[in-house]
Amino acid sequence: MSIALSELLKLSSARHSHLCPRQVLGVRMGLAGLAAIGLEAPMPHKAALVVIESDGCFADGIEVATGAMVGHRTLRLADQGKIAATFANVKTGVAVRLAPRLDVRQRALAYAPDVKKKYYAQLKGYQVMPEIELFSFHEVTLDPSLEAIISRPGVRKKCARCGEEIINERQVFANGVTLCKTCAGIGYYRLKPVS
Ligand SMILES: [Zn+2]
Ligand SMILES: [Zn+2]
Repeated sequence: MSIALSELLKLSSARHSHLCPRQVLGVRMGLAGLAAIGLEAPMPHKAALVVIESDGCFADGIEVATGAMVGHRTLRLADQGKIAATFANVKTGVAVRLAPRLDVRQRALAYAPDVKKKYYAQLKGYQVMPEIELFSFHEVTLDPSLEAIISRPGVRKKCARCGEEIINERQVFANGVTLCKTCAGIGYYRLKPVS
């Protein structure tokens, strides 16, 4: 059962105080992305992995349209600061990356000739433009692979340095020891020196 675009936009904007062009892009990209890998929206349980390239309003659009969620391990953020996402079909392994076409802002204006302000013309244009005018579609290979990202349940390792437990095979094996990413120097934070 597919939900109408207008309903999805309502669901997305209800999470904010507004509906903005990025939410529209998120909803439309979510629908187009699942279709590109042969799935209906919202996705059947854990049928897809969606990797989004930025957080914010765009992400809400993607979530409401696809049903992907962090809690189901069907949504990941690989923060590149881009309004783009890759959709992988867990069964077939096919992965397709969607990004707005480089001239999408200009193209949108032609779909809302009666709207003066660019922001509102884009807000309207993005809702009605054909998908092929909105997005580029490229088949890609995930790195790390889909299998590595999904990993296996129940695998636990202990970091030889900090002692913390690591699940989902996210450990790093270096110089004969098992380390967590942080201790291996590829974490996202550094401890403050003790003063
Ligand atoms: Zn917004
Ligand atoms: Zn560690």
